[in-house]
Amino acid sequence: MQSLTVIPETKKFELVDGPVPKITRPDQVLIKVAYAGFYESGLHLLEGNADSERLFHFRHELSGTIMDIGNEVKHFKKGDRVTVGPNAGCGSCLFCRSGRPYSCLLGSDSTIGTWASFVVVPVTRIYKVPDNVTLQQVLLTKPLSQLINALQIAGPITVGMKILITGAGILGSLWAQVLYHQGHRQVTVIDNHNKLDSLKRNNTGFTLTTRDELKKREKTSSSYYFDLVVETSGDPSVMEQVMSHLQKGGKLCCCQMASPNAEFSVYPFEVFMRELKIFSVNENCFSFQAGIRLIEAMGNRYLDYESLGIKIFPLEGYREAVEAIKSGSVEKVVFSME
Ligand SMILES: [Zn+2]
Repeated sequence: MQSLTVIPETKKFELVDGPVPKITRPDQVLIKVAYAGFYESGLHLLEGNADSERLFHFRHELSGTIMDIGNEVKHFKKGDRVTVGPNAGCGSCLFCRSGRPYSCLLGSDSTIGTWASFVVVPVTRIYKVPDNVTLQQVLLTKPLSQLINALQIAGPITVGMKILITGAGILGSLWAQVLYHQGHRQVTVIDNHNKLDSLKRNNTGFTLTTRDELKKREKTSSSYYFDLVVETSGDPSVMEQVMSHLQKGGKLCCCQMASPNAEFSVYPFEVFMRELKIFSVNENCFSFQAGIRLIEAMGNRYLDYESLGIKIFPLEGYREAVEAIKSGSVEKVVFSME
């Protein structure tokens, strides 16, 4: 089988041929992969902006069909369409027992390969794909489950509240689609004009503007302040700017991984006086099932690959895929193994 992996010595991708992996434990399943996702954040990792553990073991969403199961696997059978969720943690450390397996003290396991046509996965990591959800659509579960996690942490975000999304990449676009689907209309999205073009096609009626145009607004204008800022750019200068756009009691939700060396300034006086809240969200296995249900509810109308800027490449076309992401011509790459 083919797999795309990062060679530690060169820190570069290589397509390698190898044997189909075998189940080695009774709680595992063998999946024939149909699609596997690749995010721009993968490029950050490849460029050495993350620790080596994450560089060589990071992996992203995949979907496929079960080809074999261990003899202790219940509730799943050969032929089931499945997707793979985030690590459920060790189950026994302080954070796992506090409902935060994504902060597990033992870190992420490495039982799943990178991008490969077959993978062996513990049954605790897989989720059935509903009949009315495609194997392509279900790849969006990871960012949508992160979004659900963010909404839960942010507290009640009722219709009518003013929301700013910074960044119109795949994460920003998904946020825009979900907020529109949930009835929100007081939404502003900032990015450069090129990035905003794809959102214009969605006819949400949201305000689409640039950072500079937003900055030009008078601070006294009510259109300057927001109850929630959803930060999806990972750019510290954007984070610094939007702090001044927060309404009293406003919340800044950091959804994108920034560079480990990135920093921005905050005025603690303002944070105190205006009761501002800054928080980040990570993937969480407890919101993964809810992410699949959200995909069922939204369907093709909101989760169309083309309008979200997602392009499918064969695994052997990975060089073109990486260049496409680097050039900004696509928002997200999905590898097809079918
Ligand atoms: Zn743990």
